[in-house]
Amino acid sequence: MNGPEFGNLLVAYRSLELRVEALMSAACSPFCKVCPTPCCRIAICREALESPFLLAVHESEKSFDSKQGYLGATGCTLGAGRPPVCHAFICGRILSRQADDQRRFALECLGDLIGYLGKQVWMKRHLVEALSDGDLLNSNLTTFKARLATGAEALGILESYFSSDRHLEQEEIMVLGAIRKPGFVLSAT
Ligand code: SF4
Ligand code: SF4
Repeated sequence: MNGPEFGNLLVAYRSLELRVEALMSAACSPFCKVCPTPCCRIAICREALESPFLLAVHESEKSFDSKQGYLGATGCTLGAGRPPVCHAFICGRILSRQADDQRRFALECLGDLIGYLGKQVWMKRHLVEALSDGDLLNSNLTTFKARLATGAEALGILESYFSSDRHLEQEEIMVLGAIRKPGFVLSAT
C-alpha cells in the first residue's frame, strides 16, 4: 500500500523504535516489573490497532485481545508500532529515582524520541493522525527523513550516555534538545 520510499522509511522507524525500547526497558523494567498500578490501558492499545501508520509499522502481526489489548503476561507484546505515548509516559516513581537532572532529561528525551519522528509529517500533523493508507501516501517524506536522521543521531548519543558513566556534552544536549518539547533548559555544567 505504501510507496517503496515510504516503506524504506518505515523500516528505519521500526529499527529506531526497537532500539529506543531496548534502552527504555533497561531503565524502567526494574520499576515496571513490580509496579502496583501499571499504566497500560486498552484505549491506548486501541490506537495501535486503529492507526494506519502504527498498523503499517507493526504489520498487524500481534493479535489484539478484546480485554487486554496488546498487554501480555510479561508486558507489551508489540515490539514496534506502539503509540508514541507508550514511550513518552515515564511516571514520577521512575523519574524521582534517577540520579540527577541530566539523567532525568536524557530519559525524557528517550521517551519523546519516537513521537518526534512522526511530528508534522502528514498534512503538518502527526503520522498517527493519518486516517487511511491513502493519507500515508501523502506524507511529507522530506520531513520524515529529516526527523529520522535527527532521531538516529539523538539515539546514538543516548545509547552512548546510558551505557557509560559520563555526562552529556553541551553539543549533545543541543541535539537532544531538538527532540524535546519547546522551552527545555538544560546546561552541561
Ligand atoms: S511506567 Fe510507572 S506506572 Fe507505568 S508500569 Fe512502569 S512503574 Fe508502573
Ligand atoms: S505499551 Fe503496549 S500494552 Fe501498554 S498501552 Fe502501549 S500498546 Fe498497550
